[in-house]
Amino acid sequence: MIKRGKVVIIGASNVGSAILNKITDFQLASEIALIDLNADKAKGEALDASHATSCIYSTNINVHSGTYADCKDAGIIIITAGPSIRPGETPDRLILAKTNSKIMGSIMTEITKYTKEAMIIAITNPLDVATHCIATKFDYPREKIVGTGTMLETFRFRRILANHYHVDPKNIHGYILGEHGNSAFPAWSTVNIAGMPLEHLDDCFNFSDKIERKAIEDEIVQVAYDIINLKGWTNTGIAMVACRFIKSILYDEHTILPMSAPLEGEYGLTDVSLSIPRMLCAEGVVKSFEVKLTDEERKLLYASADSVRKALASC
Ligand code: NAD
Repeated sequence: MIKRGKVVIIGASNVGSAILNKITDFQLASEIALIDLNADKAKGEALDASHATSCIYSTNINVHSGTYADCKDAGIIIITAGPSIRPGETPDRLILAKTNSKIMGSIMTEITKYTKEAMIIAITNPLDVATHCIATKFDYPREKIVGTGTMLETFRFRRILANHYHVDPKNIHGYILGEHGNSAFPAWSTVNIAGMPLEHLDDCFNFSDKIERKAIEDEIVQVAYDIINLKGWTNTGIAMVACRFIKSILYDEHTILPMSAPLEGEYGLTDVSLSIPRMLCAEGVVKSFEVKLTDEERKLLYASADSVRKALASC
């Protein structure tokens, strides 16, 4: 029987360990199993995190290293295995497509030996390629596979706008859509701050300092590579994104977030995975929304589709 509070994390390096620690801090699981090709790394991270559960600030979570047999009764499986872009490398996640789609294949072959019931959250890059591979090649229920997609870019976008207007980023609504990567774009027509539409924001906030849309668009893409070049990897933002998804699933929240899954005719697109607003709850991804976009935004979405399709064809 499924244990809804059991989470399996596959990949125990920078991203997997950050997710492990945030899940334990936020008390989003009753059991966490950690799997990595490097079994010592998984064991070490699990042991370290398990000691933190003795503190009054933690719940009594059973944290341990595991095997794929742990997937049998897991409620949620998070895939973070496979290399990332390294400092100084070509700044494009799509260069990881061949290597990481092979890794997704080997991991899904193992997972499907044990379950087709757990929610799978894909995080490995290139995110949309990884999500598409695992969602389309393994006869796993489609609604149970989701990629974190442009939720991370959306968090970054909110922070950038929040800094400009000196406002809580959680007051900022609107989406970054398309590929999690270089062709991600803000759907400016969806953006508002606490209900105030973008074209009135400068007046509402009494700002003479207008936002430079192009600079913001560039920063949303570039900042990931800046972080990689500065600290070696990105992991804190994506760990928070993972927790946001887990919370929606655990608490059956019916939350609408931008997330990646295969498109099924939305915007006339099929055979590719991209982020559009979708509804997440205990059952998985239960609804996708074709929000109204301007012609220019549609073109950007089609450009994202081309970019991801090309990478899919290459592997
Ligand atoms: P990393 O290179 O430090 O670690 C990868 C880990 O995967 C290693 O521990 C390795 O042993 C393990 N691994 C490789 N093949 C495996 C397999 N078949 N089974 C089990 N484990 C395997 O990478 P990282 O910095 O932890 O990043 C992990 C992934 O997450 C990368 O692809 C990175 O690009 C991606 N990422 C995605 C987002 C996002 O928003 N989706 C954000 C940050 C990072």
